[in-house]
Amino acid sequence: MDWLYQKRAGAFEEMTDLPQSLRTRLAEACPIGKIDIVRVIGSRDTTRKFLFRLMDGNLIESVLIPASPALYGERSDRRTLCVSTQVGCAYGCKFCASGLEGFSRNLHANEIVDQIIAIERASGEEIDNLVFMGMGEPLANFDNMIRAIRIINAPWGLSIGARRITISTSGLAPQIKKLTDEPLQIRLAISLHGATDEVRNQIMPINRRYNIETLLSACDYYVARKKQRLTFEYILIAGVNDSDDQALLLTRHAQRLSAKVNLIPYNTVDGLLWSRPSRNRQEKFLSILRAHGIPATLRREKGGDIDAACGQLRLQTKQGRDRTIAVSRPHSGVKARPGKTFCAHSKADV
Ligand code: SF4
Repeated sequence: MDWLYQKRAGAFEEMTDLPQSLRTRLAEACPIGKIDIVRVIGSRDTTRKFLFRLMDGNLIESVLIPASPALYGERSDRRTLCVSTQVGCAYGCKFCASGLEGFSRNLHANEIVDQIIAIERASGEEIDNLVFMGMGEPLANFDNMIRAIRIINAPWGLSIGARRITISTSGLAPQIKKLTDEPLQIRLAISLHGATDEVRNQIMPINRRYNIETLLSACDYYVARKKQRLTFEYILIAGVNDSDDQALLLTRHAQRLSAKVNLIPYNTVDGLLWSRPSRNRQEKFLSILRAHGIPATLRREKGGDIDAACGQLRLQTKQGRDRTIAVSRPHSGVKARPGKTFCAHSKADV
């Protein structure tokens, strides 16, 4: 553990205080996996996006966000990394590049941890805040995610405090309860994006399986046992979920759970009818929440100039195309420019 996570050795051969015969046996018995950075894109605001190739050739992404005041936990989070947990995603949220090519496979625990190690090595920066909001639904890869978090959190591992780790879910209610029963004080964010089943059904197919009441009941369980404030992520889409009525209902959900709300203005996708509400509408929605005492923020986006939302860089690279070339969503026939679509486990502003 010392060699792997403290000294960050990439091969048993580097572990020079172990007998040569043991190093040889270890290398044969349990080769150390690795992931390669194949592309890095930095943006004007210094957010950087990393594309990795896994040992089986699959591609995944992580995003490094150097300074994100009040993003998820403390007043000023520093060096936040957004990691992926799956190759692709099966949940098909209508606004997300990660689901465009469907689900390939779960990441192993080491592939989750290695995203952090590889980026610390490449950037020379120490990651001290972690969000599970990259490609994939983290709670659908529960066991590997928990194994990875144990390594990330352990003093013999990467030593990132549990309260500096946030898991974002699209709403897998049973797994939220399972997560609650884990003895880890990690933070939870819910990608809500709609205050009624009618609205949520339009944009998040998971809601047909676990509707809002089922989801909120699971959140009740989490809040009661963890005694932690959770966060609702809410992408504001003009004419879909940005009405005063939705704001008032969202207020009720947030009051029920003492949750805070992160509002994220939608990024326009070419070919989709949806658009970002006007600044006035965004502010009105925010003001309704605040008038009811809900701690709420309206996010300024970062990384929009580098296609920072999850799944986009991977799609472009897989297709061998330039960022301006369109991709199509097979089940809808809609064309979206990767540079303009986004993922929203609230991935929108990473
Ligand atoms: S938002 Fe999350 S759950 Fe939905 S398709 Fe994207 S990665 Fe999957």
